[in-house]
Amino acid sequence: MAYKAEYIWIDGTEPTAKLRSKTKILADGAELPIWGFDGSSTNQAPGNASDCVLQPVFSCPDPVRGGNDVLVLCEVLLTDMTPHPTNTRAALRATAERYAAQEPWFGIEQEYTFFEGSRPLGFPPKGFPAPQGGYYCGVGSDEIFGRPVVEKHMQACLDAGLLISGINAEVMPGQWEFQIGPGGPLEVSDHLWMARWLLYRTAEDFGVSATLDPKPVHGDWNGAGAHTNFSTKAMRSSYDPVIAACEALGEKYMEHVHKYGFGIEARLTGLHETAPWNEFSYGVSNRGASVRIPWQVEVDKSGYIEDRRPNANCDPYLVTGAITETCCSALEGKYMA
Ligand code: ADP
Ligand code: MN
Ligand code: MN
Ligand code: MN
Repeated sequence: MAYKAEYIWIDGTEPTAKLRSKTKILADGAELPIWGFDGSSTNQAPGNASDCVLQPVFSCPDPVRGGNDVLVLCEVLLTDMTPHPTNTRAALRATAERYAAQEPWFGIEQEYTFFEGSRPLGFPPKGFPAPQGGYYCGVGSDEIFGRPVVEKHMQACLDAGLLISGINAEVMPGQWEFQIGPGGPLEVSDHLWMARWLLYRTAEDFGVSATLDPKPVHGDWNGAGAHTNFSTKAMRSSYDPVIAACEALGEKYMEHVHKYGFGIEARLTGLHETAPWNEFSYGVSNRGASVRIPWQVEVDKSGYIEDRRPNANCDPYLVTGAITETCCSALEGKYMA
């Protein structure tokens, strides 16, 4: 019996990369080979030298097709087998290895918005719905739009064995969140890309689209982020390294913001539970700060921090790479776990 492998990769679309996939039929028991694609159709190669290489790096059961079928996340390589310039995962591999002894963990809150045609799901054909207030974690058909898609996506993530840790309805109608983590930087980033693909794929069957647009509706409506929760072994056992990590992020704040997703200025305005993109602040319980220390972490005097700045459309390989590099290099050798 043959099985189907859905090869998934990140393309070269600018300013924000898109997911692409295609199916390979493999003989029963056959291992996942490297494969190729037409890079001239994905902004990854010129037409006269169009071949790019797909290197399988993570696979899991395919919850959409079921049976023995699998989903296969790939890195894109050049034909000399070196990483393609759009391959941000390759750099994260090196960073993760360098700081593995500190055991960095991430948990990413992926916000997104369903659209039906050109309108967010739940918006009336003309004008606007009732202002924000009742939608967040709401219940009932006047407040909730798209729950069957969300439930099906959550189950698909579980069936695929992804590290999904929860879902909730968000502040704007049609806006939702799922969380991936906690786990290491590569693991959480791979799982997040896979969960994004499953989100688009699941919504497709319902005739709606999901978007990671960081500011899908302008005006008095919340944007969509990817709050990134972070800890190291030392932070999980004492408080000084928790503060040291916040301070380290403050010293490199501009460098980070440029890696946190296109259009960050439109979302991080200082309103709608955000801090301005060009200032840095941190504080306990403060959802208007760049980085929040959860109240329980201050009580326990150990735990994790939440970088609230990454956009919904961020590349988790870049985000977890930057946080690991900045915080782990600052903590290195200073704190015993
Ligand atoms: P919020 O209150 O900001 O909405 P969520 O409950 O949506 O928070 O998300 C919190 C995330 O933090 C989850 O993905 C969870 O896995 C992650 N997390 C919990 N503990 C840690 C930790 N020690 N290190 C890193 N991430 C963590
Ligand atoms: Mn959340
Ligand atoms: Mn949220
Ligand atoms: Mn959050």
